[in-house]
Amino acid sequence: MRNVLISGAGVAGLTLAHWVREAGFSVTVVERSPGLRSGGQAVDIRGAALEVMARMGLGDRMRAARTRMRGMSMLDGEGNELFRSEEHVLSSGRLDSGDVELLREDLTAMLHELTEDKVEFVFGDEITAMDQVEHGVRVEFEHGGWRTFDFVIGADGAHSTVRRLAFGPERAYTKHLGQYLAIFPTGNFLALDNWQMWFQDRETHAGGAVYPVRDNTELRVTLGFSAEEMDYDHRDVEWQKKTMADRMAGTGWEVPRLLAAMADAPTFYFDAMAQIHMDAWTTGRIALVGDAGYCASPLSGQGTSLALVGAYVLAQELGDDFGAYEQRMRPFVELNQALATENPAGPPAEESIERAKNAISLAGGASAVAG
Ligand SMILES: Cc1cc2nc3c(=O)[nH]c(=O)nc-3n(C[C@H](O)[C@H](O)[C@H](O)COP(=O)(O)OP(=O)(O)OC[C@H]3O[C@@H](n4cnc5c(N)ncnc54)[C@H](O)[C@@H]3O)c2cc1C
Repeated sequence: MRNVLISGAGVAGLTLAHWVREAGFSVTVVERSPGLRSGGQAVDIRGAALEVMARMGLGDRMRAARTRMRGMSMLDGEGNELFRSEEHVLSSGRLDSGDVELLREDLTAMLHELTEDKVEFVFGDEITAMDQVEHGVRVEFEHGGWRTFDFVIGADGAHSTVRRLAFGPERAYTKHLGQYLAIFPTGNFLALDNWQMWFQDRETHAGGAVYPVRDNTELRVTLGFSAEEMDYDHRDVEWQKKTMADRMAGTGWEVPRLLAAMADAPTFYFDAMAQIHMDAWTTGRIALVGDAGYCASPLSGQGTSLALVGAYVLAQELGDDFGAYEQRMRPFVELNQALATENPAGPPAEESIERAKNAISLAGGASAVAG
C-alpha cells in the first residue's frame, strides 16, 4: 500500500487524512503540538465546503455544534454603542444564512474522531529534513529518525515547515495585511447572552471582538492592532502577550480587564493578518494544502473552507502525481483570497462571498474518492 505523510493536524491535515485513506493510501499525520490544538474563535464553513463536510457524514454534527448568535453591537473606544444588528454579525455575516459557524476546536475534534482509528498519528514531533528520492521522499523527524513516504503533504499552517524545506523561506510568499491579532478565552464576566461586542478605537488604532461560547459560560476574546510587518519568534508567547498589551494600552471600554485576563489565559493564538501567495503548490512528490499553500487570512473568513475543499480536491487528484490539483484550486483560491482585501473598511460584500464560496466543482479526479 502506498503511504502518505501529512504534516499538521489542523482542518486541512485531518480532512486530507480522511480522504487519502478513503482513496486507499496508508496515512501518517505528524503534529508538532502534544495534542490537537484548541483555542481560537469560531470559523465559517460555506458553499462547497459544506458539501465536503456532508460527504464525510459530518453535516448533522457540524450543524449541532454551530454558534447561536442573536446579533452584535459595535462600540467606539470608550464603549459607546455606534450601531447594533440582529440580522448580521461581523464574524460570519447574515444570521439567516445556510452557512455554518462553529468553534475551530469543535471542528478539529470531529475530524480527528473520524480518522483516529484509520490513521497513524504522531503528536509532539515534526519534520526536520526532506530528501526527494526516485519514487518518494525521505523524511527526518526531530524525534523519530528517517522514514520514506510516497508523498509528503504540508498542512502545517501559514508558517509551514514543509513549505520552508521544499520551497524556501516564508518571506518570499507572505503578503502582510497590516494587522495583528490575538485570540484567547476567559470567563463570561460581561454576562453576554449569545451577543457579540465589537469595538474600534480611532485614537489607538486598536480594536477587537468579544463573544460568548459554550452556553454563554465562556468568552472568546479577539484583540487586534494595526502595524507594519514585525520580525518575531512565532513560538515566543510572552513577547506576543507583552506586545499586544503595549499596543492596546490607552484603549477604553473593558479592554484593561480583557488584557488582565490575557495574562493567564489557558490558550493563546497570535498571528499577523497575512496571506500566502505561491506560483506552485507542488514540487515532485511534495504538495501544500490549506494555509500552508494559500492562506487567505481571517479577514477573508474563508480559510477553513479553503482548507476543507483543498484537502478534498487534493485527495481526489492524488495518483501517480498531484493531477489537476493546482489547476482546479487556483481560481477558487484567488477569488477567496481577494475577499480579504476587497473592502479595507470592513467585511467583503455578500455577493462576493456568494460567488467565491461556490467557485469550484467537486467533480473530478483520478483517485477512488467520489467526484
Ligand atoms: C490554535 C489556532 C487557532 C486559530 N484560530 C482562528 C480563528 O479564530 N479565526 C480564524 O479565522 N482562523 C483561525 N486559525 C486559522 C485557521 O484554523 C486556518 O486558517 C484554517 O482553518 C486553515 O487550516 P489549516 O489546517 O490549513 O491550518 P491551521 O489551522 O493553522 O493548522 C495547522 C496545524 O499544523 C500544526 N503545525 C504547525 N507547524 C507544524 C510543524 N512544523 N510540524 C507539524 N505540525 C505543525 C499546527 O499546530 C496546527 O495544528 C487558527 C489556527 C490555529 C492553529
